[in-house]
Amino acid sequence: MANILVVEDEVNVSSFIKKGLEEKGHNVDVAFDGAMGLSLACSREYDVIILDVILPQMNGIEMCRRYRDTMGYDVPIIMLTALGSTDDVVKGLETGADDYLSKPFMFDELIARINVVLRRKGMGVSAKIYEYADLTLNTETMMVIRSGKNISLTTKEFRLLELLMANPLRVLSRTHILENVWDANIDVNTNVVEVYINYLRNKVDKGFPVKLIHTVIGMGYVLKEE
Ligand code: CA
Repeated sequence: MANILVVEDEVNVSSFIKKGLEEKGHNVDVAFDGAMGLSLACSREYDVIILDVILPQMNGIEMCRRYRDTMGYDVPIIMLTALGSTDDVVKGLETGADDYLSKPFMFDELIARINVVLRRKGMGVSAKIYEYADLTLNTETMMVIRSGKNISLTTKEFRLLELLMANPLRVLSRTHILENVWDANIDVNTNVVEVYINYLRNKVDKGFPVKLIHTVIGMGYVLKEE
């Protein structure tokens, strides 16, 4: 779990990032302009700062420069730049950003970058690679491969498959899955687990001779070879 500051004025982008990171168990603060970002960044301890370049009050490059001048280089900064704006990238890295990501980006890509800078900082979640039958899941690269074929999953589908792969041959109840992949406060009557198991089957099992995701009636779901 990390303390993360997101500095981004576009509310839909910042709330999407905040929500996604909170689902991963991180604490997230959001600032909507560069001045507010700088004051938060200098007053609280963060493990990583996600900083958009185009911001009101003070742009991300200026904020990064002033922050580095005041606070030094301990906290990694990942800059969000507009696609193709190499100028911003160069300036950003020169002023002390550790990495950058061009918008629009996939959330998984942001997570992978965050994990890299956190690990460099010595507090990263260590990467885990799960293997079962011909299926491989890598929590660092967020890649899922079956029989050499790359399978693209959403964040929730990935988390669900990760849970199954961490517990092969073990029947996981719907409640256990809900609590681990969604959260403890979710309505227990929801059919979201069934829905996502179906999404996963369509991506992971469909078209392969051996099915890996099985329903155990009245009990739950299990990852096993037939
Ligand atoms: Ca912006």
